[in-house]
Amino acid sequence: MKLETIADVLVMGAGPAALCITSELIQQGLDVRALASHSPEKPWPNTYGIWAKELDELGMSSLLSHRWKDTVSYFGNGSTTDGDIPITHDFDYGLFDQAAFQNSLLKKCLGLDWLIETAEYIRYFDKITEVTCASGNAYRARIVIDASGHRSPFIRRPNNGSVAQQAAYGVVGRFNSPPVEKDQFVLMDFRPDHLSEQELKEPPSFLYAMDFGKELFFVEETSLACSPAVSWKTLKKRLDSRLANRGIEIMEILHEEHCLFPMNLPLPYRNQPLLAFGGSASMVHPASGYMVGALLRRAPALAKKLTESLSIEPALDSAALAKKGWKVLWTAELVQRHRLYQYGLNRLMSFDEALLRSFFETFFRLPRNDWSGFLANTLPLHKLILVMIRLFSISPLKVKLGMIGLNRS
Ligand SMILES: Cc1cc2nc3c(=O)[nH]c(=O)nc-3n(C[C@H](O)[C@H](O)[C@H](O)COP(=O)(O)OP(=O)(O)OC[C@H]3O[C@@H](n4cnc5c(N)ncnc54)[C@H](O)[C@@H]3O)c2cc1C
Repeated sequence: MKLETIADVLVMGAGPAALCITSELIQQGLDVRALASHSPEKPWPNTYGIWAKELDELGMSSLLSHRWKDTVSYFGNGSTTDGDIPITHDFDYGLFDQAAFQNSLLKKCLGLDWLIETAEYIRYFDKITEVTCASGNAYRARIVIDASGHRSPFIRRPNNGSVAQQAAYGVVGRFNSPPVEKDQFVLMDFRPDHLSEQELKEPPSFLYAMDFGKELFFVEETSLACSPAVSWKTLKKRLDSRLANRGIEIMEILHEEHCLFPMNLPLPYRNQPLLAFGGSASMVHPASGYMVGALLRRAPALAKKLTESLSIEPALDSAALAKKGWKVLWTAELVQRHRLYQYGLNRLMSFDEALLRSFFETFFRLPRNDWSGFLANTLPLHKLILVMIRLFSISPLKVKLGMIGLNRS
């Protein structure tokens, strides 16, 4: 067994969360170690989308491979002329250039020797934390950050029963006719006119779709959140029938995406000696499923706090350091906002497809700064509450009843 010297911080993982926090810690000048089951240069398996303004504000919009100005959603019934009209968002949406994003973070980690190891168990000593890996090697640090994703077995959190999952089945491919208009991005196409009577009673799903240019399109049938998760088989069947209903056929599949991740994972206990970041820290936005913008916004403050605590208070043990980290990562304000989003998601999951369409149609009638701030989780708590009140006040009665739990489902 190889026992290493003690680093300031050890990060576990090599996904977007691990790279975001590791690069910030290194920029702060800390002695950082990082370990992951595979090379951090291995391309990430997912494609990440984001509202472009979030990246503009961080000065990182050059990391987008695609940026759409024509962004729309459909919340009509699809079977009448009125029900086929999209609402326009007038707000740019982008897709990360995966390699550029990953490389830009890796560049900031220059000099770091990534350990290709799988963490198996963690022990806490007086002043340090020790991570033992499948190889038998053990690595020690003053504080360990678990960025190994939402399935982490190391992070403790309350068991609040079943966890809702976002599920999606998508295809990048060529089609006999365009599934979306040229240069268009469709955030949500909820039109239900391809569904049978039985399917209309099942948990709703929508189409997320975009034009990649050169006759390539990405189409993805998505279930926002459901427990148990809607199966990929069901989503694939719905995608096929949605496309067929409009006379569209997939001619060539270049890539298939199978997406599944928890939306309302309870927040971790914030008195544990292990810190987390990303999926393991329940940082996925419970009402939208987005997380990458939050990683980029929240990593610098966490790195700064740990740097201060490690240098100004050298006697702190792992538990005390973790406590300081948790306080910055999940401030009282962010915890309250998370609760509101979770309440909102729970209500949405009880909506049938017609009520859900009506809800989203109302939601996107809010002023753009309100709905986009809600989706990015950038509104301060008092503003978020005002936006929720405003949403309630402009909603039709049936949506109001749904929001307070008086819908029939
Ligand atoms: C298909 C899909 C599409 C998504 N699309 C978007 C999107 O468009 N926009 C958005 O904002 N969010 C999106 N999300 C949500 C979220 O941003 C992603 O789930 C994101 O990948 C989570 O990042 P992470 O770094 O926390 O975890 P992961 O990406 O899961 O990375 C975990 C890392 O830890 C490593 N690891 C795991 N266990 C160990 C161990 N024991 N020891 C060492 N290493 C370990 C893994 O190998 C991996 O490198 C999507 C999620 C999925 C699944």
